[in-house]
Amino acid sequence: MSEDCLFCKIISGDIPSNKVYSDEHVYAFHDINPAAPTHILVIPRKHLHNVAASEGEDEALLGKLLLAANKIATQEGLEEDGFRYVINTNDNGGQTVYHLHLHILGGRQMTWPPG
Ligand code: 5GP
Ligand code: ZN
Repeated sequence: MSEDCLFCKIISGDIPSNKVYSDEHVYAFHDINPAAPTHILVIPRKHLHNVAASEGEDEALLGKLLLAANKIATQEGLEEDGFRYVINTNDNGGQTVYHLHLHILGGRQMTWPPG
């Protein structure tokens, strides 16, 4: 837990969220400002600044994050039509909250390249 971290406060329940999935290592909730019909954030319970700051000891956790995201994408009915995972990293990557999070975006056609 990092004292000033918004997503740590969401995990602890100090800030309310619309929960989608929860297990021992991972928590997921709806994005407050959805960029697609389905927009879910999947986060590790452990505070990690971002994916670039993760290390060897986080290898299993990163795997759990992706596998949890797969479960959620299936649960939300996104698998057949498709969806997008996004991990914004640092300033140029568009990261605004510095607790590692994976966006699940679905329910519409995505475009490439991203903005
Ligand atoms: P980033 O830009 O860091 O990749 O994504 C941060 C995401 O967190 C944004 O999509 C933003 O809408 C979302 N967000 C920011 N504050 C809150 C909040 O208090 N609750 C929820 N549910 N989402 C938030
Ligand atoms: Zn945090």
